[in-house]
Amino acid sequence: MNSVLVKTLTAAAWLAVPALIGRLSFGADAGWAIFATGLLLLLGYQARNLRRLLDWLGRPEPGEVPEASGVWDDAFALLHRRERYLVHERQLLARLVVRYSQAGRALPDGVVILDGDDRIVWCNGKAEARFGIDGRTDVGQPIANLVRQPEFVKYLAARDYAGPAQLKTSRGADLTLSVQIIPFDDDQKLLLARDITQAERLETMRRDFVANVSHELRTPLTVLVGFLETVRELKLDPDRARNYMGMMADQASRMQRIIEDLLTLSSLESAPQPPWDRQVPMQAVLAGVRADAEALSGGRHRISLDAQGDWDLLGAESEIASALRNLVTNAVRYTPAGGDIRLIWRASEAGASFAVEDSGVGIAPEHIPRLTERFYRVDSGRSRDSGGTGLGLAIVKHALLRHQANLHIESEPGKGSRFTAQFPARRVAASQQSSGVAA
Ligand code: ADP
Repeated sequence: MNSVLVKTLTAAAWLAVPALIGRLSFGADAGWAIFATGLLLLLGYQARNLRRLLDWLGRPEPGEVPEASGVWDDAFALLHRRERYLVHERQLLARLVVRYSQAGRALPDGVVILDGDDRIVWCNGKAEARFGIDGRTDVGQPIANLVRQPEFVKYLAARDYAGPAQLKTSRGADLTLSVQIIPFDDDQKLLLARDITQAERLETMRRDFVANVSHELRTPLTVLVGFLETVRELKLDPDRARNYMGMMADQASRMQRIIEDLLTLSSLESAPQPPWDRQVPMQAVLAGVRADAEALSGGRHRISLDAQGDWDLLGAESEIASALRNLVTNAVRYTPAGGDIRLIWRASEAGASFAVEDSGVGIAPEHIPRLTERFYRVDSGRSRDSGGTGLGLAIVKHALLRHQANLHIESEPGKGSRFTAQFPARRVAASQQSSGVAA
């Protein structure tokens, strides 16, 4: 027998007790009257609880499930349990929604949810910044009214979302965005906006670099091929032929220098970070750099070295020596005979600097910011004639950056230049040898 029936019968049985006492004390009529009154009270109780149940079901406020005893206790207890379960489920769902919207906000891409009519339903902060929309006030607005770039409007209208569209924005900074629409859930759409400015810049740099390298190598190669054809086609006397061979050798070594510099640059890009615990013997490096400058100058310049501070650099000796050598050879190459070149080394526990001052041709201010770009030259003819590849300062900049050092360039056309490499304190260490290189 189920518990509802048992409880109902038990309640009825309890009514029988006073009715029986009434009957024994006052006769059968009194007994029936008491029983009927009891039944009426029970009915009233049931009707009242039914009313409370219907009221609650009409407006099921959480935590307000009625309480009662008897058979209603079971019913209300079940409702209580169900209500607790629903509250728990609702909390879980709310937490899930919060977590998803936090994840959406944290995404590095701009995200906009659009409805079937391309109206904004939701967007994250990145989308607000990239499209200039407002995630609160613009909800319900057609996105095409707010993002009006023609490429975007065309992409949206075409309804062909197989691939992304690219568009430029000029909010804050010039950005290139890759915009992709992904339809989901019947008629909703997810709009993703990825910032590809950096990738595009790198791609342009890569393309320019390949074009530059090809051009730089093609020029000497064309000259070389021309000479080769001349030597093969014409009967040249030995002196002329030797002369031609000499010019061919010049072009070949120019190509070789370009390739060597390119390899140096690529190894600087791929090599592991320079060590922090390897001391570079600066006295020896400075002496070597000075000797190189003198050899290249061949006595045409007055070259001096002024070194102060018994401190060494920490890092990769070959990279540091190559950076300093490039600065010094440039000074020799861009300073006419009779000029002065000063190498100045200053080091202390606060950091170190190596400056090369020359009294050479100097550089106009508009060129200075671009000098460290690959293949950038102020005067291509002068660079080529002095054996330049256009890569020297790019190598210097790279090698210095790898040692957390900066390159400062000051120059005045016709007066001379000063190139200074500045190393931070953490890249210097007290020298273990005694000083004695200054001259
Ligand atoms: P390059 O092989 O052409 O010398 P670099 O990268 O070493 O290439 O230098 C880039 C350009 O900077 C040079 O072409 C030259 O115009 C200019 N430059 C570099 N050093 C000096 C200097 N000491 N004096 C004048 N111009 C310089």
